[in-house]
Amino acid sequence: MYANEIEADLTEVLVTEAEIHAKLAELARRIEADYEGEDLLLVGVLKGAVMVMADLARELRPHINMDWMAVSSYGAGTQSSGVVRIVKDLDSDLTGRHVLIVEDIIDSGLTLSWLLGNLESRGAKSVEICALLRKPDAAKVEVDVKYLGFDIPNQFVVGYGLDFAENYRNLRDVAILAPHVYS
Ligand code: 5GP
Ligand code: MG
Ligand code: MG
Repeated sequence: MYANEIEADLTEVLVTEAEIHAKLAELARRIEADYEGEDLLLVGVLKGAVMVMADLARELRPHINMDWMAVSSYGAGTQSSGVVRIVKDLDSDLTGRHVLIVEDIIDSGLTLSWLLGNLESRGAKSVEICALLRKPDAAKVEVDVKYLGFDIPNQFVVGYGLDFAENYRNLRDVAILAPHVYS
């Protein structure tokens, strides 16, 4: 399906494009029911959540708003440290608004747990989380995810927005990156 040189970098496709779209449609129906008659602000975390945001937002029938934040976790390599810095802040005022954070993946949970606290402190009416993927075996802190796509094994994955060294974000599926690529 992918060009041969990309195929060689992947061990296994974990979640296919079709499975992702079916799941996002299912989550969108729940979100519509839960926020019926309310305004909703989707907050996407750059850059990994771009694909989830684009597909989830287009699944949602009612009026929504979108805003973006970029955060960086201090710490080397593939491990997040829990010390988070805002690289690009929201343009929106959150006072009195229902906010849904849209994320690609929850690994240790440190980034989202920090972000949740940060957005809650801005006077939002509610702050909830929608994440496409979660690695339960990697959790260092519990994060209360209201809308979850898939639990996956504790392996490094790429595709559908997720990168390794800024590569593979454009793959349509989520796949395990072959160890020879990063070792
Ligand atoms: P956490 O703070 O939950 O450990 O990780 C947060 C961020 O690390 C995620 O939003 C994502 O950008 C990155 N990350 C965690 N696991 C993976 C993975 O398996 N693949 C990729 N490409 N990024 C990951
Ligand atoms: Mg992310
Ligand atoms: Mg990354």
